[in-house]
Amino acid sequence: MTSISHIGTPDHLLAPAAPGVVVGRQRMVPVLSAVQEQRQAVRLGQAVPSLAAAYSQALARWLGDPVLRLAGRPIITECYRSAERQEELYRQGRGKPGPVVTYKRGGESKHNYSPTPALDVAFQLADGSVSWSGLLLSKFARLMKYADARVVWGGDWPSFKDRPHFEVLTSWKGGDGRG
Ligand SMILES: [Zn+2]
Repeated sequence: MTSISHIGTPDHLLAPAAPGVVVGRQRMVPVLSAVQEQRQAVRLGQAVPSLAAAYSQALARWLGDPVLRLAGRPIITECYRSAERQEELYRQGRGKPGPVVTYKRGGESKHNYSPTPALDVAFQLADGSVSWSGLLLSKFARLMKYADARVVWGGDWPSFKDRPHFEVLTSWKGGDGRG
C-alpha cells in the first residue's frame, strides 16, 4: 500500500484522529455496494474530463491512505443537475422550507451543464451513514487541488461557503460558481 506521505502531501493530512469515526468501528473500512459503485461511476461520467481525472486521483490517494480510508469513503452526491432541479433548490429558503443552499437559478449553475464542470462530495461512513464533515471535506479538497491546480473548492469562497462543492475553471463560462 502506498501512503500519501510518500508523494509529498502535507503531513497534517495524516492526522490520526478523524471526526465521525466511532470507537470500536475504527478498523472497519467504509465500503460501497455494487449498486452504489455503479451510481458513482454514472455520476463521475457526467463530469468534464479534467474534473473526473482530478476526482479519480484524489479518491485513489484517499483510499490508499491507511488513516483516511477508515475515516470515510468519498462519494459524489451530485454532478449533473437539471435546470428544473436547480430551480427547485433555488426556491429552498426563499418560500420553500429549508436553508438557502444556492444562489443560482435554474440553468445558471455549473451543475446544469453537460458535461459538468462541478461535483458535490460527501463521505460514506462505516455504519452506512453519510457525513458532510467540514474537516474531511477540507482534507479531500487538499487532494483535489493537489491533483489539478485548476480545481476550485467551494469551501474557499469568502462569503457563501459551499464545502461539498468542487469545480474546475472553464473558459466558456466566466465568473465563480457558488452553487
Ligand atoms: Zn455543487
